Amino acid sequence: TDFKSDKQPTWCPGCGDFGTMNGMMKALANTGNDPDNTFVVAGIGCSGKIGTYMHSYAMHGVHGRALPVGAGVKMANPDLEVMVAGGDGDGYSIGAGHFVHAVRRNVDMTYVVMDNRIYGLTKGQASPTSREDFETSTTPEGPKQPPVNPMALALAAGATFIAQSFSSDAMRHAEIVQEAIEHDGFGFVNVFSPCVTFNDVDTYDYFRDNLVDLAEDDDYDRHDYNEAKDRILDASKEYQGVIYQNENSVPYEEQHGLTENMSEIPDGAPEDAMDLVREFY
Ligand code: SF4
Repeated sequence: TDFKSDKQPTWCPGCGDFGTMNGMMKALANTGNDPDNTFVVAGIGCSGKIGTYMHSYAMHGVHGRALPVGAGVKMANPDLEVMVAGGDGDGYSIGAGHFVHAVRRNVDMTYVVMDNRIYGLTKGQASPTSREDFETSTTPEGPKQPPVNPMALALAAGATFIAQSFSSDAMRHAEIVQEAIEHDGFGFVNVFSPCVTFNDVDTYDYFRDNLVDLAEDDDYDRHDYNEAKDRILDASKEYQGVIYQNENSVPYEEQHGLTENMSEIPDGAPEDAMDLVREFY
């Protein structure tokens, strides 16, 4: 199934977002989805353009607010495969509040964050995941504060699936996103997606040299909360793979009986539709 739209991406040549998007499309196809049942919600930023480049239903959300839109779509029509995409600025700064609550709500959807540790679209300002000493136009001596650790935030908020991947490791990235889609609940994937134009520190070479794939560690148990916590708090390495998965995850909509498609306009609308809305609330 082809998830590629006929629009040509305007991302800079070499941007990590190309690989991130290709992996998402591959994962969607591998899980048996097609454009007719797929809904992509994007935030604002370079990453936010993804809904235009993918052939599916899509919505370009408000800055930092793609997650509640995605949750609304999924709860209105649980038959849809909902994928939310955004960047580190969008998701971990203005959208940090929504991120924490989306994680703890555990709606069955996938959240892919293209983490390039910089604001790209606005031409290179420090983002929540920028290094403490990363010099940018707005932080000439670096942000002078430790970066946000998105996986620690997710774990603390009660995440049921936490993963990390690298856009350039195409096969692994697609496999990891596929696992997030298949997870029953909120599947969170932080993707190292280098910005070749404004970040000369967190480059392809840096990630290639520092990436440690948990799939190569036979002793690693992704269901062990404490093991996951140790890896997540280990700032000396960049881990790739599924870092944590709660085997007992039950999606929000299943917990609360929201498994029927509410998006159909019933016969006799609008009266019947209004009854439906009243019943829902
Ligand atoms: Fe990609 Fe950076 Fe260019 Fe944005 S500015 S398209 S993140 S390389």
